[in-house]
Amino acid sequence: MSLQRFQMFIRGEVCDATNDARYDSMDPATASAWATFPDASAADVDIAVKAAEQAFYGKEWRSLTATARGKLLRKLGDLISENTELLAQLESQENGKLIRETRGQVGYLPEFFYYMAGLADKVEGETLPIDKPDMMAYTIREPIGVVAAIIPWNSPLYLTAIKVAPALAAGNTVVIKPSEHASASIIELAKLAQQAGFPAGVLNVVTGFGPTAGSALTSHPLVRHIAFTGGSATARHVVRASAENFAHLSLELGGKSPQIVFPDADIDSAVNGIVAGVFAASGQSCVAGSRLLIHESIYEEVVQKIADRAARIQIGNPKDAATEMGPMTTEAQLNIAEKLVATALEEGATLRHGGQRPELGDASLTGWYYQPTLLECPKPSDTLMQEEVFGPVAAAIPFKTEEEALALANDSRFGLAAGIWTRDLARAHRLCRDVRSGIIWVNTYRVVSAMAPIGGFGESGYGRECGIDAVLSYTEKKTVWINLSDTPMADPFVMR
Ligand code: NAP
Repeated sequence: MSLQRFQMFIRGEVCDATNDARYDSMDPATASAWATFPDASAADVDIAVKAAEQAFYGKEWRSLTATARGKLLRKLGDLISENTELLAQLESQENGKLIRETRGQVGYLPEFFYYMAGLADKVEGETLPIDKPDMMAYTIREPIGVVAAIIPWNSPLYLTAIKVAPALAAGNTVVIKPSEHASASIIELAKLAQQAGFPAGVLNVVTGFGPTAGSALTSHPLVRHIAFTGGSATARHVVRASAENFAHLSLELGGKSPQIVFPDADIDSAVNGIVAGVFAASGQSCVAGSRLLIHESIYEEVVQKIADRAARIQIGNPKDAATEMGPMTTEAQLNIAEKLVATALEEGATLRHGGQRPELGDASLTGWYYQPTLLECPKPSDTLMQEEVFGPVAAAIPFKTEEEALALANDSRFGLAAGIWTRDLARAHRLCRDVRSGIIWVNTYRVVSAMAPIGGFGESGYGRECGIDAVLSYTEKKTVWINLSDTPMADPFVMR
């Protein structure tokens, strides 16, 4: 089968790497190559950043009013809506996510652009009640400049939208470096932006590898803001790279999110929330609820119900609408899951379900599949209770009291999300106050909205995406002083 050939998108045009280098991208369901992409070098990244810098100061972009920028974003939202099927198919192809999930995610994608379109002309400065006679002072919010968006492979379009929509609404220009495993849908998005009428150079995509293209982008002196989503190890490189140029940073990193189940919860609802929270997208979700803290009185019932449901999950071709769980996106990620499960068993965990690569009926599905896996871990300090798997692996532990549940929930260096399952309103609010986490879901899980901020505590990162503040985070505040008096400035070196 011939491979699909993709090109990068720079200054409003598709292009190859200047040295024509390319790499193959793999289909996670079959472990065979399906497409090739340009392997950008530092020189290509430099071209893209300079295109974005030129567009930032160019008349075409600068002369647009904020309202006009909002209209372009709205148009882009409409075009995404018209191309939902193309984008959903590409994303499912490249990262192995279920087509029914990518259709849902892409179907909601326009909302991020519509919401940020509405905010574009509501970025206001302030008049300051200043304490100096005859002085007036006010602030202006201005775009920062070239934004570098570094995107992982698990939800490429969604994670791009929540960066690009507010960055463009505020008047910045953007260079995106998608993951080498999932670049196709993002390239199509950039082409749609061009079709919507964004000037050339406002939105650019360079493809390639993290240590080369990613590193060249995050350390480029013209990049003024880095919006990074990925793992903590890579984030440390990015923070160091940003230090050279003092670029602004927002970091959306990993998690080890707790799901806390109390005896008064609707148990079946909690089980469904837990199964969806950790096995959807084969667990490759930053908010995967992978630490199950379950009250001792219902512990066995809940664990058994999760194991039973896990055993019935239909694993198969992500393009088949009946499939409930697809492959993992990369072989490396599958190896990490296997290694962490082996470590958990060595440390004394009990396997309740999974722990193997599944036997699939379809001989063509030779890709990176792993069973939904549930283990009971005896100690909160166990590796599986502390380390992110980024795979379909849950670790369960019982608790006796609310205080113990809270201590277990906060016993993590991460703090991205948490689920609380209880009908007791006071307890729910107490835990919402005391659990250290950027998102808390009560009697639900994994709901997102353009209007609700996303971000973490601790090693889950800093900065917030989505919501009103997202646009402000892509602006700089300028303070203007005006002397209102007619008295000339005195010579500062003449004694009076
Ligand atoms: P990753 O290995 O950290 O990669 C993330 C991005 O960084 C990719 O585009 C990668 O490119 C690039 N990169 C790698 N090395 C780089 C370097 N030295 N300089 C600049 N960029 C570099 O993460 P991943 O494995 O793709 O994604 C999984 C992680 O992302 C998990 O920890 C997950 O929890 C986290 N995540 C967080 C959120 C959130 O919103 N909080 C959402 C989704 C995922 P290549 O892929 O081409 O190497």
